[in-house]
Amino acid sequence: MHSIVCVKPVPDPSRFDKLRLDPETMLLRRDEAPAVINPLDRGAIEAAVGLKRSLGGTVSALTMAAPNAEEQLREALALGCDRAYLLTDKAFAGADTLATARTLHAAVRKIGRFDLLFCGGYSADGSTGQVGPQLAELLGIPDLDFVAKLEVKRGRLRATCRLDSGEAACEADLPALVTIAPQTGAPRLTPMRGIQGALSRKITKWSAADLRLAPKTVGLAGSPTRMLNIFTPPSNRKGEILQGSADEAAEQLIEKLSLKAVRGGAR
Ligand SMILES: Cc1cc2nc3c(=O)[nH]c(=O)nc-3n(C[C@H](O)[C@H](O)[C@H](O)COP(=O)(O)OP(=O)(O)OC[C@H]3O[C@@H](n4cnc5c(N)ncnc54)[C@H](O)[C@@H]3O)c2cc1C
Repeated sequence: MHSIVCVKPVPDPSRFDKLRLDPETMLLRRDEAPAVINPLDRGAIEAAVGLKRSLGGTVSALTMAAPNAEEQLREALALGCDRAYLLTDKAFAGADTLATARTLHAAVRKIGRFDLLFCGGYSADGSTGQVGPQLAELLGIPDLDFVAKLEVKRGRLRATCRLDSGEAACEADLPALVTIAPQTGAPRLTPMRGIQGALSRKITKWSAADLRLAPKTVGLAGSPTRMLNIFTPPSNRKGEILQGSADEAAEQLIEKLSLKAVRGGAR
């Protein structure tokens, strides 16, 4: 069983208040915020390593990011991945989801045969949830999203997918792609022994040329999405805390709402 896990380094969500945008490029200043493994990708690593334990085989971690993402890939190795691939090139900067999926697709093709491809359901920063399904489309393989539970038997994937309205039991032939739902699998603390072992492990690095990708198909140049503006909307609404018991507060609220309706000419 050969699994590949797409691991995105994201700014540490606990430090989002420190994040700044580059006023010219409208892109996040990623070099200013400490990065961590995208939380849902930790769940994906756990699921892939769990399958390896029960079925044997290998797990590869795959990242498109700046060179300093080696740190997150070493953590993925410490968590039980066997190989790590870093797609890094100035040409990849500013990629939207399609350009990201295209770059990951070229790398998966170069890695070769695989049975299961894992992505997180969404990233903690862009949070579009688009890369997994786009990658499956480019690879021409089935895609099961927001997977909470999975098993592989006789080359067939069975999974429980989380939906807004409940859960669905889904099946697919391998190779396939799954995106991992929140709260799936309890991510472990990175084992010390794993960290020590990972420090000396080789990380394979590929550029756009190694992937035979023309610069105009990747990064900002290869992205149909244009970030025209991004801003924090001014909040001019003021809050009011209603005093008294719940009943008294409810009374006050009804009065305020009906007053508002009358003033608004709704009646
Ligand atoms: C605030 C913000 C808003 C954005 N809005 C948009 C937008 O509307 N449209 C758009 O096209 N782009 C947008 N982007 C850019 C987008 O973040 C990047 O394209 C990014 O590389 C992939 O999109 P995502 O973060 O939404 O990933 P998602 O699709 O949410 O990620 C899902 C999974 O895909 C895998 N994955 C994603 N990126 C990588 C990677 N670099 N390396 C390895 N695996 C990866 C991971 O497994 C991840 O869990 C936005 C970025 C930011 C910071």
